[in-house]
Amino acid sequence: NHRKALALAERFGGRGGTARAFADRLRAQAARPPREPEAELPAEDAVALLSVHQAKGLEWPIVFVPDLGASPPRDGRRALRHPSGALAAALLDVETGAFVTTAALAEAREEGRRAGDAEARRLLYVALTRARERLVLSGEAGRAGGTWRALVEAGLSARPELALRIPLAEAATRAVGPAIAAGGEAAAAPPEPLPALAAPGLPPPAPRVAVTALSEHARCPRRPYFRGVGLSERASASGAVLDDPDRATARGTLAHAMLAEVDFAAPPLTRRVLLEAAALRRGYDPGAAGVKRIVADVLRFLGSVPGERLARAARAGALRREVPLMLRLEADGFPPCYLTGAIDALVEGRRDVAVVDFKYAVARPGASERYRAQLVAYALAAARAYPGRRVTAGLQFLRGGCGSVDVTPSTEELRRFEREAPRLALDASRGTAAGAPPTPAELGRDEARCRAEGCGFVWKCYPAAGARGAAAA
Ligand code: SF4
Repeated sequence: NHRKALALAERFGGRGGTARAFADRLRAQAARPPREPEAELPAEDAVALLSVHQAKGLEWPIVFVPDLGASPPRDGRRALRHPSGALAAALLDVETGAFVTTAALAEAREEGRRAGDAEARRLLYVALTRARERLVLSGEAGRAGGTWRALVEAGLSARPELALRIPLAEAATRAVGPAIAAGGEAAAAPPEPLPALAAPGLPPPAPRVAVTALSEHARCPRRPYFRGVGLSERASASGAVLDDPDRATARGTLAHAMLAEVDFAAPPLTRRVLLEAAALRRGYDPGAAGVKRIVADVLRFLGSVPGERLARAARAGALRREVPLMLRLEADGFPPCYLTGAIDALVEGRRDVAVVDFKYAVARPGASERYRAQLVAYALAAARAYPGRRVTAGLQFLRGGCGSVDVTPSTEELRRFEREAPRLALDASRGTAAGAPPTPAELGRDEARCRAEGCGFVWKCYPAAGARGAAAA
C-alpha cells in the first residue's frame, strides 16, 4: 500500500502538483463519503458486495465466497528483485526474439512463488473467517491443483464433517426467499423458511473466540463482564475514570498498523514518511499532536536495540508480520474451540521461532501476568506451525524505554493451556449472557493483588477501598 501511495505521489508530482496540493487532495479523499465496503448497511437484510481485501476486519452473519475454482494470481514479470537484493531479469535472445530465463530470475521467481503462496493462504484465511453463522463456498471442482478450492479441500480433508456439500443441481432450490416480481417489487407471497443447512449429526458449533478476548477472560472474568455492562476503569478506587478505552484502543491500533506497514530496514527519514502515510491512509492528520506522538514513539522503538534486531531479521527475510492464526483446541467435557488472532511479528530461525507482541504502552510490573494467556496461545500456535523448533514469546512495549519482557511458556504451561482453553473459550463466548461473574474471593483474588496488576475495577470490586480513599481525601 505504501508503494501505491508513493507511486500516486510521483504521478501527481510528474503532472506538476506540489506536495501541499497532494496532501490536500488526500485529505479531501479521506473526508469523502464512505465507499460501498465502508458504508453502514441500511437494513439487516442488506447484501454487501466487496473484495476479500476490503472485507478484512469485518464480519457478517452469512458470507458467500464464490469462484474458488480460480487460481491465485501468479507473477509473470520478466524482471524481479533477487533475494540477495540484486536485479534478476530475463535476457532477450535477439535472434529468436524469445526471452531466456536466467538462473537468478528462476530463483527470484521461486522466492516470489513461496511468498505468493503464503499471501494466498493469508487472503483465504481472511475470506473464510468473515462469517459469524454460515459460510457458503462455491467453485468449480475438477481442475488441476493450485486453485483456491484445492487449498480449502486440503484443509477439509482432515475434518470432512465440517462441510455440507450441495450438488450444483440442488443449489438453486436451497436459495429461497420472496419471489421478485417484474419491476423489482417483492411478490406478496410470504417467504419460505430457509431450509436447515446443518448436516444430520453435525456437532454443535464450536466457540470461536479472539485470543485477546480469551486472554482478558483468563486474567479475570469480571473485567470483560464489567465492560459488557458499560462500566469504565478508574485510575484509583475513588479517582477519575481512566483514559477513554476507545481512544486508547485507537492509538494502539494505529501504532500496530504503522508497524505492520513500515519498512523496518528503511533509513530513518523514509520510516517517518511511511509512518505518516499509514496514519493518513486511516484518515488521521499526521500533523495532529496525538498522531505526532505515536509516530515519535514508533520511530524511537525502531531505533532501539529490539527495533534494530527486527530490522536485521527483516533484511534477512526472516521477519513476518501480522501472521494470522486459528488454533483448534479440544478437552474432555467441552466442545472444541477455535482461537483466532494475529501475531504482530514472528522471527523465523532455523532452529527457533520468536513470537513478538507489540504493546503501545509503558512496560510496568505485572505485565507478563497480564498478557500471559495471550502469549501462551501465540506460542502454542507457533509451536504447531513450526514443529521441532524452539519457540520463544515476548512482549515489546513501544513507549517509555521500549522495554521487552520475556513471556516464553514452559512445555507444561502449554499443555495446561491446551486443556483449559476450551472451557475458558466457552465462558468467554457467552459474555454477559452467562450472568454475574464469580466474586473476587471465589476467584482467589484480593485487593492487593488486583492493585498490583493495575486493574481499574478496584473501585467496583472493593467498594470499601473507595470509601477509604474518599475519607482520606
Ligand atoms: S479488581 Fe480484581 S477482581 Fe475486580 S475485575 Fe479487577 S482483577 Fe478482577
